[in-house]
Amino acid sequence: MRIEVLTLFPEIFSSPLEHSILGKALQKGLLNVNVRNIRDYAFDKHRQVDDRPFGGGSGMLMKPEPLAAAIDAVRGEVPGIRVILLTPQGTLFDQAKAGELASLESMALICGRYEGVDERIRKHWVDEELSIGDYVLSGGEFAALVVIDVIARLLPGVLGDKESCVEESFSDGLLEYPQYTRPRNFKGYEVPEILLSGNHEAIRKWRRREALKRTLERRPDLLDFSVLSHEEKKFIEELKSGKRVAGSN
Ligand code: SAM
Repeated sequence: MRIEVLTLFPEIFSSPLEHSILGKALQKGLLNVNVRNIRDYAFDKHRQVDDRPFGGGSGMLMKPEPLAAAIDAVRGEVPGIRVILLTPQGTLFDQAKAGELASLESMALICGRYEGVDERIRKHWVDEELSIGDYVLSGGEFAALVVIDVIARLLPGVLGDKESCVEESFSDGLLEYPQYTRPRNFKGYEVPEILLSGNHEAIRKWRRREALKRTLERRPDLLDFSVLSHEEKKFIEELKSGKRVAGSN
């Protein structure tokens, strides 16, 4: 996958793209991230990228000319690229959206700054708008890094153990089950017996039920969109009605 990033602060990307999973994905060539400075596309004498909003009001806006020139250049070099504007007003970015984007060959992420971008860019130069949550960041760079990180995990070959992405929270619409590692007894707190049993089928069932319980406790909204068997639906109903106590199997 090729990702083009358009930003006024390219330096923000260097460290996060160098380390750990992202760093390895880039080194292996499974992901190619090209960061461009929008200022390089400002062709006036002062290379100005912002201006005051018409009609007054606080703050500055990103001018349309450099942004449009940068996007046009990217589209010229990467035909068919999906151009995405990061904005708190966009569609909420979630695991399902990440899965959809991970199947693309290329995408451009536009990072806003100041009070955002001129409306004409939003309307006529971008294909899609994405928000990473209902809060306002000072710029789109951290949002772009979130999107890149989440998508990279889904690209074939990026995660060493394929399972670690398949069984994660949200991958099947549920939160992940509780996990434990050594020691068995940590300051008097024991690991659940079943995880030491060696009975893989019993462990699989326990994990699935724990995931259901956890999702019901913390994010019941997710259950409306999860694919559940008849037995699992019954289990949820029992937990809700108190016939089954959370924590029991
Ligand atoms: N005035 C804008 C508004 O109220 O919608 C907010 C501008 S914000 C200070 C500056 C830039 O940060 C935005 O143009 C966008 O690129 C980025 N940004 C802020 N919050 C974001 C979010 N939740 N998701 C994605 N990008 C965000």
